[in-house]
Order: sequence, then structure tokens, then C-alpha cells
Amino acid sequence: MDFRPLINLCESTNTKYHINGKTAPLTSIRVGNTAKLIVFPTEMHVFCQIIDNILTNNYKYVILGNGTNSYFCDVYDGVVVVTNGIDTVLVSENDMIATCGASLKNCANNALCHSLAGLEFAYGIPGTIGGALYMNAEAFGSTIGQFVLKSVVYDTLTRQISELSSNESHLFGKKCSIFSAKRYILLETTLRLIPSTFDFVKNKTCELLKKRNSSQPLDMPSAGSAFKRNGNYYVSKLIDEAGLKGFRIGGAEVSKKHAGFIVNSSGATANDINKLIEYIKHKIYDKYQIKLIEEIIYIE
Ligand SMILES: Cc1cc2nc3c(=O)[nH]c(=O)nc-3n(C[C@H](O)[C@H](O)[C@H](O)COP(=O)(O)OP(=O)(O)OC[C@H]3O[C@@H](n4cnc5c(N)ncnc54)[C@H](O)[C@@H]3O)c2cc1C
Repeated sequence: MDFRPLINLCESTNTKYHINGKTAPLTSIRVGNTAKLIVFPTEMHVFCQIIDNILTNNYKYVILGNGTNSYFCDVYDGVVVVTNGIDTVLVSENDMIATCGASLKNCANNALCHSLAGLEFAYGIPGTIGGALYMNAEAFGSTIGQFVLKSVVYDTLTRQISELSSNESHLFGKKCSIFSAKRYILLETTLRLIPSTFDFVKNKTCELLKKRNSSQPLDMPSAGSAFKRNGNYYVSKLIDEAGLKGFRIGGAEVSKKHAGFIVNSSGATANDINKLIEYIKHKIYDKYQIKLIEEIIYIE
């Protein structure tokens, strides 16, 4: 595959790129080896030109935020577009406009500064708003989807920028949204937050962070919960009761602190993670006849 047209665009727009760049450092679980090309746009109009260029040249591609829900295969033979340099948050009255690469922490901090409630649950989620809308990020009974008013998106079918003008048009569901089908790429979203007081938002944020710190293995590389919550079942409880805490395949391990997390305990490969996922799924099916569904995303 000839990536010269995209490399030329990166050079003419002063956009950083890596040829045969390392992918593990792009993910929080630190799994992957190389990708043919990794590009790091920092401006929205350049991001759109990059998508256009990718579609024109028929390159295989993936959009990445902070890579906190994802892990890479050994050699990704396409383009990785890293959006976390496109990180702008603006607040006007009760509304927050965030670009796709804005970190949830930045969004939650801005909400706090404006005494707006709603995003306290999101402060400790290490992703971007793009990754959060894709997966309808959720914690402590709140979802990002419940605050979304409208979004500006790139439609890869028509190759036009368009608007999802209502909350309903985002098709938010349990750990999914319209973005999961990959037709649309989020450029910018508007969240409607709740007027509150600085102290209320600060106290709630601290309380939820404490809960997170006490239950999650934040000292080890991971991609968050490995499996989606299954109806009324807490998947981590099922995995724990199946005796799998600490179970390891290669460098991939079921966290000893939170059985719902797979951690990279030492040099895990995608193969280790895939084998461990299959092993857990079999064990849980054998014991409870429950089919687990992965939440973490394998980029191959
Ligand atoms: C320690 C830890 C704790 C976590 N806790 C939680 C939690 O409490 N709740 C929760 O829901 N998740 C949690 N996660 C998982 C993860 O942080 C969230 O799902 C987060 O929203 C992912 O954002 P990201 O930018 O890192 O996504 P990435 O991993 O970069 O991408 C995820 C998916 O989104 C797509 N995507 C990214 N940007 C765009 C875009 N602009 N347009 C279209 N698609 C896009 C990607 O292609 C990919 O398919 C946790 C992860 C870790 C490591």
C-alpha cells in the first residue's frame, strides 16, 4: 500500500506522523507492535482532510482516542488516526461543546469550574469524548449518552459533515451507540449539563474517585472492564466465583483486585489477551451457561 498521498498531506499541514510506528504506547493496556502509519492531527479541519484522504485512497484505518478501551494486533497494516490532540472544551450557560479528542477529565474539570453537574462519574474514566460516545461510557449509574444534546459528525458514506440533531439520533444503548456501526466519526458533541454548586460537584467527584481507586487495579496497564455487563449479572463476580482471579496466559492476567479487568502483567501480546478472553468465556459458559461479550476492542 502506498501511503505517500497521506504522508504528503501530513507534511503540508505540519501534522506529526510515524511510519511503522509503535502501537502499544497508544493504548492504556500497552498491547500491540507496529502500524504502517500513525497520524496525530491537532486541528479539526486537518482531521477531516485526513479522513477524506484515507477514504479516497481506500486505506484501512482506525480512529483512536486515548486507546483506553482498545488493544492492537501485532502488525496493523493500516492507518491509525489519533485524535487526542484535538482537545477543546467550551462552556456556554448549561451547555458544553467538546471536540472528539477532549479527555473526559478535561470535560469533567470544565463542568466543575462552571458548577455544572452530571459528569462527576466521568472524571476517572481515562478516555476521550469520541471513545466515550462510541461506547456510551457508563459508571456509577450514569452514562455519557444521557447528557448528549447533538453532535457534528463525519459521514463516511456520503463523505459530508453532518449533524445528529437530537439525543435519540445517537441510538445510545448498553455500551453502544450509532458510532459502533462505524459509518459516522464524531467530530464534536454538545452536552447539556445541570446547574449546581461547585461544592456539590467537587464532593461527588471526590466520592466517586475514591470508590474507583479502591476497586480498580489502577497501578497496572489495562483497558478497563474486559466484558460488558450481562443483564443483572456482575461479570466480575462471576469470574471471581469461577476462581479465575490471578489466572494468567502469557503476560495477560485476570486482575487480582477486580476480576472484570484483564491486566498486562508483563509483556502481554494480543494473542495472550485473546486466549485469556476465550478461556474466561468458556469457563463462565460451562459454569453458568452465560455468554460473555467483550467490551474491550481488538484492533486487527
Ligand atoms: C482504568 C480504566 C478504567 C475505566 N473505567 C471505565 C468506566 O468506568 N466506564 C466505562 O464506560 N469505561 C471505562 N473504561 C474504558 C474506557 O476508558 C472508556 O470506554 C472510554 O470512553 C474509551 O475512550 P478512548 O478515547 O480511550 O477510546 P479508544 O480506546 O481510543 O477507542 C474506543 C473505540 O471508540 C472509537 N472512537 C474513538 N474516537 C472516535 C471518534 N471520534 N469517532 C468515532 N469512533 C471513535 C474507536 O475507533 C474505538 O472503536 C476504563 C478504562 C480504564 C483503562
